Amino acid sequence: MNLAVDPRALARDAASAAAPDPLDWLAPVLFRTTGVPGVYLRTEVYEDTLERLAAWVTRLRPEGAETYRFPPVSSRKMVEKSGYLKSFPNLLGCVCGLHGGEAEIEGAVSRFEAGGDWTDATTPSDLVLSPAACYPVYPLAAARGPLPEGGAIFDVAADCFRAEPSSHLDRFQSFRMREFVCMGRPDDVAAFRDAWMDRAPEIADDLGLPFRLDVADDPFFGRVGRMKAVAQRQAALKFEMLVPLRGAGKATACMSFNGHRDHFGLTWDLRSADDAPAHTACVAFGMDRLTVALFAVHGADRAAWPARVRESLRL
Ligand code: AMP
Ligand code: ZN
Repeated sequence: MNLAVDPRALARDAASAAAPDPLDWLAPVLFRTTGVPGVYLRTEVYEDTLERLAAWVTRLRPEGAETYRFPPVSSRKMVEKSGYLKSFPNLLGCVCGLHGGEAEIEGAVSRFEAGGDWTDATTPSDLVLSPAACYPVYPLAAARGPLPEGGAIFDVAADCFRAEPSSHLDRFQSFRMREFVCMGRPDDVAAFRDAWMDRAPEIADDLGLPFRLDVADDPFFGRVGRMKAVAQRQAALKFEMLVPLRGAGKATACMSFNGHRDHFGLTWDLRSADDAPAHTACVAFGMDRLTVALFAVHGADRAAWPARVRESLRL
């Protein structure tokens, strides 16, 4: 695995590792450690809760949505073409392997067995770790020709990876994302995102989570990235459902509501029924973050969770 790690992320992590986090008490209830920050083995109660949450999200699925489940790895070319490297090169994980001949591979293994390093013999494969659930759906839809009148809606999910190691329980390197994606004419797509933002209070109430909806920006990399973030905020392209998990501390983004304008339409030649570049938007549920939030807000004992939450999750 070749990972370019953002030194700012490492510094932030070093600082946070020193300070105890108010969520730490949940760690033994929810996870077993792997020795790698942000990568956890999940306990039965955690996984059962996440599965119930996934079933609850399915009950919210827009009528007529086409459903796909994507693997934790994606085509490297597809992610490159999507523009991910221009925006978040520091977060991407690339799958590398030992692709040499027998002698070269045996040499690498022998070096490892003698206490040395084997990874310098690796080369990149055609795969990257999926950085978000929705990327594969735009080329998938574009390959079918223009979208139908009224556009198209998808329900997608994937195990995602982002190289943002942290000791905080709500920041993972490997986490699950579920998304409802809309593509079509600008007005239809804007209405889709607005409708989901309007539903945020009902969603949060069903899960008993205090929240605030706020305009947000993505962690674009570098100096140009900081300008992109300002432009994204000014155009109100991203909103987040922020749930306070640490009292008055910084709240945690558990869902995002994203407008991409014609970015994916132009990238993939995805066209709406009138043959114009399609607009797209996605509503993302951070499944692991929402699950951690449920335990952080309602406690470790699910039997004591509020009736409405138990009802939503069919507990
Ligand atoms: P984004 O594409 O950044 O808007 O991510 C969509 C959702 O995935 C966010 O609202 C979070 O709930 C979740 N998410 C993003 N990054 C992480 C992470 N490092 N750990 C856990 N969940 C995350
Ligand atoms: Zn998305």
